[in-house]
Amino acid sequence: MGRRLLFLGPQGVGKGTQAAKVAQLIGVPHVSTGDMLRQAVAEGTDLGMQAKALMEAGDLVPDELVVAMVKERFAKPDALCGYLLDGFPRNQAQAEALDVAMNGEAIELVISMTADEDELLRRMQERAEREGRSDDTPEAMKRRLALYWDETAPLTEYYPTQQVRVAAVDGMGTIDEVFHRIVAAIAELDP
Ligand code: ADP
Repeated sequence: MGRRLLFLGPQGVGKGTQAAKVAQLIGVPHVSTGDMLRQAVAEGTDLGMQAKALMEAGDLVPDELVVAMVKERFAKPDALCGYLLDGFPRNQAQAEALDVAMNGEAIELVISMTADEDELLRRMQERAEREGRSDDTPEAMKRRLALYWDETAPLTEYYPTQQVRVAAVDGMGTIDEVFHRIVAAIAELDP
């Protein structure tokens, strides 16, 4: 059965890696707004041209652009039976737009990944060296992390008010250890 899951977590927590593995395991599309925006930038679409400078500075792309992009993604047939959201919503306004776009359905579980600050910084640095993403400059990394704590982390308090369960998952340890923690949290959902 399809699932509607949402992953939250600061930069460096390993969210993208785990989201991709979990989506594959449960057979739902991994909807990563960061990946979709990077693809739009690479293709030079209108959206990509509007997003590029903002992304490089570590700022958010305007809500209306990201919301329109996600709605378009939801309309594709593979998303009809579920999806795993990664990188969206990133603030309260996006969360409310998502509620509307879901048309009476609800997120079944929010996986909120955590790790200590030193480990986050270490992993971000490591990724910057490995991947060379254009927004992995020290300033943009700092900006993204600050925006996460200010605008995204409060969503872990919003969802319980909407009767959506939030599972806190420790992101410290090996990729497999963290993966098993997430799978266990999902297994607790009703079949
Ligand atoms: P990270 O988790 O390291 O910040 P992402 O791939 O999730 O990486 O996002 C990269 C960039 O893409 C963000 O800094 C932002 O500019 C843009 N972006 C991604 N998702 C959103 C979103 N939901 N709303 C606004 N901007 C977004």
